[in-house]
Amino acid sequence: MLEVKDLHVTVEDKVILKGLNLTINAGEVHAIMGPNGAGKSTLSAVIAGKDGYEVTQGTILFEGQDVLEMEIEERARAGLLLGFQYPIEIPGVKNIYLLKAALNAQRAARGEGEIPAPEFMKLVREKSTDMKMDPSFLQRAVNEGFSGGEKKRNEILQMLILQPKLAMLDEIDSGLDIDAMKVVADGVNSLRNADRAILLVTHYQRLLNHIVPDHVHVLVDGRIVKSGGKDLALELEERGYDWVLEESVA
Ligand code: ADP
Ligand code: MG
Repeated sequence: MLEVKDLHVTVEDKVILKGLNLTINAGEVHAIMGPNGAGKSTLSAVIAGKDGYEVTQGTILFEGQDVLEMEIEERARAGLLLGFQYPIEIPGVKNIYLLKAALNAQRAARGEGEIPAPEFMKLVREKSTDMKMDPSFLQRAVNEGFSGGEKKRNEILQMLILQPKLAMLDEIDSGLDIDAMKVVADGVNSLRNADRAILLVTHYQRLLNHIVPDHVHVLVDGRIVKSGGKDLALELEERGYDWVLEESVA
């Protein structure tokens, strides 16, 4: 589904990613771990198409399509969706209207008509109940005055409605208490299926107790220096990141 090859990325003249390779197949959950500043957020942002990143070398293919040639909207319509570490507030735009507009844009891209209002209301109520969000959040401006945990739940709500092919989640666990993390993890787990892939960026192992990944990668200084199964996350929790780096340069 996703193939990242030899990716080099520069931000404001600073080289962040230095030859990163990553392959993700449909049905898989991958976790990217690594110390602060390693380039984890940069990777997900570049795949999603956020401005300000210069790809100086390498390729990103999504279902065989050259992602770097696609506008951010095209990427979203193709089924790439990034949940933010710091979700932005959009004053003046009602949450429910954003959800509806985004869903209808996707449907239009697939040649489908707008979702009938009753069907949309049913869907959105059902999914917000799953995320333990009071219906009043749908009528508020997007993320405005939401607590950290509410913003994260709202990010997952968007994913439950939009059903991306590749869902990327950047530090979705940061700032969450244990109950909120379980709700978020349950939401993410409900997205798991054979046709969808999930890329979790996380600093901490604890999220991976709730969303058990198929593959774990360690990103240090702009490169993936080690990959393994879910046990690698436990080993990192115990031993930190330094040994991985030492092993990789040895
Ligand atoms: P991580 O998510 O692994 O903590 P990031 O991808 O956020 O790492 O950042 C990697 C490095 O790139 C950091 O040193 C960060 O300061 C730098 N960086 C990211 N965005 C910018 C930016 N817009 N301008 C300057 N430096 C940036
Ligand atoms: Mg980050």
